Amino acid sequence: MIAPKEIRKQGGKSLKITWSDNHPSEYTFRLLRQNCQCAMCVDERSGAQILKKEEVPVALDGLQVNIVGNYALGITFGDGHSTGIFVYKHLRKICPCEQCKAESKPAEAKIYLDKEDLKTRVD
Ligand SMILES: [Zn+2]
Ligand SMILES: [Zn+2]
Repeated sequence: MIAPKEIRKQGGKSLKITWSDNHPSEYTFRLLRQNCQCAMCVDERSGAQILKKEEVPVALDGLQVNIVGNYALGITFGDGHSTGIFVYKHLRKICPCEQCKAESKPAEAKIYLDKEDLKTRVD
């Protein structure tokens, strides 16, 4: 399981996490707030995002970061929002570095079919 080796709050602006595989991630609190998965931000049933990302203030601070169990972080943001639980797995997924962004792009399907398969395609 992926877990942080080091969590460092850099002023109120960003959070730096070094993961157990030594991958460094740096998140602005705005980015974290935009990816909050709590019931106020994401519709539990449909999974649709209720929060409008562009409405999150650009200079949003993080007031408090605490560790929840051994699987997540709880963050209190400068706008008073504190209901979000940021599961490590999710945090790693939203790592904004170039490497992770490239990896999270939907990969193009590799298709291995014979000519015979293609013939039976229904248009
Ligand atoms: Zn939320
Ligand atoms: Zn990354």
